[in-house]
Amino acid sequence: MTTIKLENMNKIYDNNVQAVFDFNLDIEDQEFIVFVGPSGCGKSTTLRMIAGLEEISSGNLFINDKLMNEVSPKDRNIAMVFQSYALYPHMTVYENMAFGLKLRKLEKDEIDLRVRKAAEMLQLTDYLDRKPKALSGGQRQRVALGRAIVRQADIFLMDEPLSNLDAKLRVQMRTEITLLHEKLHTTTIYVTHDQVEAMSMADRIVVMKDGYIQQVGTPDEIYYSPTNIFVASFIGTPAMNFIDGDLEDGYISFNKYKMDISHFPEKIKLQEGTKKIVLGIRPEDIKLYPGQGYDFEIEGKIINIEKLGDETIIHLEFSGNKNLQIKTSGKERDIDIGEVKKLYINPYFIHIFEAKTGNRLF
Ligand code: ADP
Repeated sequence: MTTIKLENMNKIYDNNVQAVFDFNLDIEDQEFIVFVGPSGCGKSTTLRMIAGLEEISSGNLFINDKLMNEVSPKDRNIAMVFQSYALYPHMTVYENMAFGLKLRKLEKDEIDLRVRKAAEMLQLTDYLDRKPKALSGGQRQRVALGRAIVRQADIFLMDEPLSNLDAKLRVQMRTEITLLHEKLHTTTIYVTHDQVEAMSMADRIVVMKDGYIQQVGTPDEIYYSPTNIFVASFIGTPAMNFIDGDLEDGYISFNKYKMDISHFPEKIKLQEGTKKIVLGIRPEDIKLYPGQGYDFEIEGKIINIEKLGDETIIHLEFSGNKNLQIKTSGKERDIDIGEVKKLYINPYFIHIFEAKTGNRLF
């Protein structure tokens, strides 16, 4: 049973750079939490404050309701996995995994039990006598994971552990880490700049920007109800389309179009006066053909077609210099560059943000 609480945590480095602002988060027992955001947004700093590798400038860190601010890293019972595997090149896989336990003066038999069990879990049993240089990148990262597992720590902290691997291996290791978490149930915080990793692995995602939390939510909450334009644009590939518009008396107007949204009960409330808004539409929510709910018609001129096999990304000129991207199945055949196409939107699937603040209106 391990919970973590971050309360009003701030980090100001010695050079007066504030890397983290007022970070608040309650992490439940066994949760897999992913911190995601662009480089420099404060993910690693937050992780390192939890590990005890960085001092907390202000605020509190609790593990199982116990204040940890002044507790030394080795007494926090946390295991870390980094981007660089940091394996000892002169030691075998077995020795690499056993090393930390030896330092902690565990019995030889206990060490052996833990190393063999972890090796089995990670399919490393056949490689226990090899040195790291005779392993693939994926295997090396598994050894690094193994080293964390044998610790039987209360918490795993992982900082971009898959960034050094090629794309295919990353996908495979993503699944392995998820399966591992299902077996071990260890409360985990995983840092990445890769939104696909965040979406595919997390119980809950913490989206960060410029040291501030932007949103905390399940992958579905983050994807379907992004709290602001930043989150909406950061999560999802291709990115959400954004179109400037006005919200007035139950209508959204953009370009030459006027979309009636007054019949959406929860949306009526916001219709007082005119408001500058940004309309957000995911690429998969714009269709080439009308269908159930997809009955609002717009028009665009095809300027590029990317055939990716299982899907096709179509770039369209929408109004003047404004482009739209739409994502369709890979089976589109009767489309040509230069063609002006009718497109269909389901008004229920649009996102509306306030232009001034970028915050979600609904
Ligand atoms: P991320 O992990 O999201 O890429 P970091 O937490 O590493 O971001 O960095 C957040 C900010 O803090 C950045 O502006 C970075 O330059 C700054 N920073 C990180 N480490 C230090 C340090 N030791 N001293 C001063 N500034 C730092």
